[in-house]
Amino acid sequence: MNETLLMIPGPTRVAPRVLKAMSENIVNHRSAVFGEIITETTEMMSEVFQTENQSYILTGSGTAAMEAALASVLDKGDKVLNIVGGKFGQRFMQIAEVHGAVPTELEVEWGHGVDPEDVKYILEEEDDIKAVTIVHNETSTGVTNPIEEVGKIVNDFDALYVVDTVSSLGGDDVFVDGYNIDICVTGSQKCLAAPPGMAAITLSEDAWKVVDKTPTSTYYLDMKRYRKSGSGTPPETPYTPSVSLMYAMREALYAVMEEGLESRVKRHQLAALATRNAIKAMGLELFAQPEVSSNTVTAIKMPEGVTDKELRGTMRDKYRIEMAGGQDHLKGNVFRIGHMGNITEREIITTIAALEMTLKGLELDICLGEGVAAAEEAYLID
Ligand SMILES: *Cc1c(COP(=O)(O)O)cnc(C)c1O
Repeated sequence: MNETLLMIPGPTRVAPRVLKAMSENIVNHRSAVFGEIITETTEMMSEVFQTENQSYILTGSGTAAMEAALASVLDKGDKVLNIVGGKFGQRFMQIAEVHGAVPTELEVEWGHGVDPEDVKYILEEEDDIKAVTIVHNETSTGVTNPIEEVGKIVNDFDALYVVDTVSSLGGDDVFVDGYNIDICVTGSQKCLAAPPGMAAITLSEDAWKVVDKTPTSTYYLDMKRYRKSGSGTPPETPYTPSVSLMYAMREALYAVMEEGLESRVKRHQLAALATRNAIKAMGLELFAQPEVSSNTVTAIKMPEGVTDKELRGTMRDKYRIEMAGGQDHLKGNVFRIGHMGNITEREIITTIAALEMTLKGLELDICLGEGVAAAEEAYLID
C-alpha cells in the first residue's frame, strides 16, 4: 500500500470510517430519515462554530459558502471593507465585486497579519461600510489573522463581520459568538477532514436582518431559501444535496466531537510547533511572521539554489509525500506543509525526515536528523 501522504492545506486525508459512511445507499433527501441526518449534522456544525445560531450545509466547496455569505448581504453599490493579505482575502474581494458591491481594500503585506488598528481607522474614516471580510487563516501565506481583536472593533460599528474559517475551523480557536462574528463560513475538506464538496455557513440575528432587507443576487446560494427549507418538518435543503457527502460530513463531525474541539486544536498547535521548530533547526526560513504563524499550514521559503520542481518533485516521486507550492507571486518562492485534519506526530516526523533526505540529496548543507530531533522534542516537551 504505497499511498501518498497528503501534507497539503486541503483537501486532507479522510478516516476510513468517513469513507465507509459514504458507501451507504442513497435515501430520499426529502424524508424524515434524511431530515434527521441534516439536523444532527447542522447541530454538530453549530457546536464546532461555537454558536447558538443555526448552521447550514451547502453542497459546494468553501468558496460557495463565501459567495453565499456576500451575495446574501451585499446589494449593488454597497460598501464593503475587504482585508486582503493573500489569495483568499483577494477571493472575498472579487466575490464582492462580482455582486456589484464597492470594496475598500485594506492591503496587508503577505506573510503579515492585519493590524486591528488599521481596521478601526478605516471604519472611522469611511461611512456606511456594510460588511467587513477577513480570512482567519490565510492558507496562501500561513498567517493567522487576529479575528477576535478585529471582531471587538467591528462590533462598535454598524457593519457585519464576515469571517472565512475554511482552513482553521476544527484546527484553531473559532468562537463565532464569542468573537462577534456575524457570518462564518467553512469547508469540509480542511481541518474537519471530510471529503471535498461541502461547505457550511452560520449567520447571526443581525446578519439575518440584513439578509431580509437585501435583494439577493444569487438564486442557488440564496440563504433565505436555505432558512425556509431548513426550518421545515422534516428539515430539508432547497435543492438536492450531495446525500453521500452529507453522510461523510456527519461521520467526520462525530469524529471531531469524539476527539473534542480543545484536544483537536491542541493537536494542530503541536503539529505546527513541531513543523516550525524542525524547519528552523534545518536552517530553512519560515515565510510568515512568528507572532501570526498558522496552526494548520506552514509556508517555508524555498532554499537558495533549489527549485520547486526539485524539492517538491523529489518529495512526491521518491518519498510519496505531497506538499503544496506557492501561489501567485510566491510560486517557486515558497513551499507549504499542510498539517491539518487527521495529522499526528507520525506524519510530521515522516515528512521532516523525508525533507531532510530530499535536501541532502539536492546537496544542501543539511545535518541529517536535526530537523527530526527538533520535531520530536516539540512533541515530547509538551
Ligand atoms: C480552501 C480555502 C477556501 C475555499 O476553497 P475551495 O477550493 O472553494 O474549497 C477558502 N478560504 C480559505 C482560507 C481556504 O483555505
